[in-house]
Amino acid sequence: MVVGDVTTGTELLVVGGGPGGYVAAIRAAQLDIDVTLVEMDAYGGTCLNYGCIPSKAFVSATDVAHQAGNAEAMGVYADPAVDMQGMVTWKDRLVRRLTKGVESLCERAGVNLVEGRAEFASEEKARIVHQGEGEGSETIAFEHAVLATGSRPIQIPGFEFDGERILSSRDALALDSVPDSLLVVGGGYIGMELATVFQKLGTDVTIVEQLPDILDSYEEDVSAVVRERAEELGVDFHFDQTAQDWEEDGAALTVETEGEDGEVQQFDAEKCLVAVGRKPVTDTLDLDAVDIETTDGGFVETDDRGRTSLDHVFAVGDVAGDPMLAHKAFREGEVAAEVVAGQPSALDYQAMPAAVFTDPEIGTVGMTESEAEEAGFDPVVGQMPLRASGRALTLDDTEGFVRVVADEESGFVLGGQIVGPDASEMVAELALAIEMGATLEDVAATIHIHPTLSEAVHEAVKGAAGHSIHY
Ligand code: FAD
Repeated sequence: MVVGDVTTGTELLVVGGGPGGYVAAIRAAQLDIDVTLVEMDAYGGTCLNYGCIPSKAFVSATDVAHQAGNAEAMGVYADPAVDMQGMVTWKDRLVRRLTKGVESLCERAGVNLVEGRAEFASEEKARIVHQGEGEGSETIAFEHAVLATGSRPIQIPGFEFDGERILSSRDALALDSVPDSLLVVGGGYIGMELATVFQKLGTDVTIVEQLPDILDSYEEDVSAVVRERAEELGVDFHFDQTAQDWEEDGAALTVETEGEDGEVQQFDAEKCLVAVGRKPVTDTLDLDAVDIETTDGGFVETDDRGRTSLDHVFAVGDVAGDPMLAHKAFREGEVAAEVVAGQPSALDYQAMPAAVFTDPEIGTVGMTESEAEEAGFDPVVGQMPLRASGRALTLDDTEGFVRVVADEESGFVLGGQIVGPDASEMVAELALAIEMGATLEDVAATIHIHPTLSEAVHEAVKGAAGHSIHY
């Protein structure tokens, strides 16, 4: 690739090297498409560098310490200490390993990698602005493009991230010491995962949430299990409270919130984590140069093949809308590459799972009972509490349940809601069932290993089919 005024060409230009972009690039290269991937920061995007992987590394490390320190019922006595710097070093090592892995997977697949920011020069050309002094720019002409520019955290007015007092999730995952106290604004999945991590590290965590409960996209009985466990851990919740303002208070800060009734409350903490959602990144692209439609929320509009309002330009991952999840970005990246290659691929979100890595975890897929009713099904539901699971008892972790929703008439599995240990793993079985069009009897006839947590999925399915044995 020549740097300067020279224009080079590529069949497919992928902008952004996160889960959506790198998967689109690798899949396109597998399909013999000449593909160029441009990344302005770090391969692996938010997920590998500042999101899924760093947060799950912290979740695992703090879980190990917490479990070891709370296992007296099993006859185990320990008082583990977590060295925050050691934990961060370990997390950084994993991140480096995985981002290097993405880079070498792309190279081995034959993807041309370009470091810099890509912006539209026209509908067929992108200007690549190389960062760093005197690095200049180059132009790449493309036949097709995939936009995979991701998302960034929403800032509340007055709460600009400074990395010291007002933290984004990325800042919180880069702290090298444990704050004494942390005020978390937002009880969504990122706020809840990080609140659990820091509470387990010994921080006094307070959550203020504008809505009446945490994890608002989940059913009440699912989020209640997570909220109750967090309360047991010591997290202090304040609902119907909107963060308004903050001020420095010596080495700490005071955040002011307003309740629905207009009552003002003050919360003191060493740091404040703002986790109120994420918004799409399109301002890096100079979208004004092209006729690409966006939604009111700023997401790039796409059809069921990932195509934007320009036929030869696709958008995948967070920039293309909810759910903002890495595995949704993977799938959209694959589909976009296959459509560019002329294959009849299309997106289908029926079996899109989602997980929250709190204590305990949540794993869901497909429809809830009420969604199934709204969609015109006559749903039948089976539910297995984990206190009736032998394996959950041997883990001393019995809060939660597995619920399965199916269509009574056909027996087709329509959805599942799991809250409990390893829910993020267990839900995969139900995702496969939905994707395969499996019926309750198909899953019921599948032999599950004893004793495992996945037996609870089996039992819930058998319950829905009317022949549960163990519950
Ligand atoms: P991103 O990963 O954001 O990647 C976009 C890339 O594009 C970035 O690297 C950016 O530098 C680059 N870019 C932007 N503009 C340009 C440009 N003009 N030119 C060149 N490059 C550009 N999801 C899960 O599924 N499971 C989880 O457990 C999970 N945990 C999370 C925890 C946290 C704390 C956070 C913040 C997110 C988490 N997510 C999780 C969400 C997940 O990280 C995102 O859904 C995923 O990263 C989206 O992938 P993407 O490819 O769309 O965008």
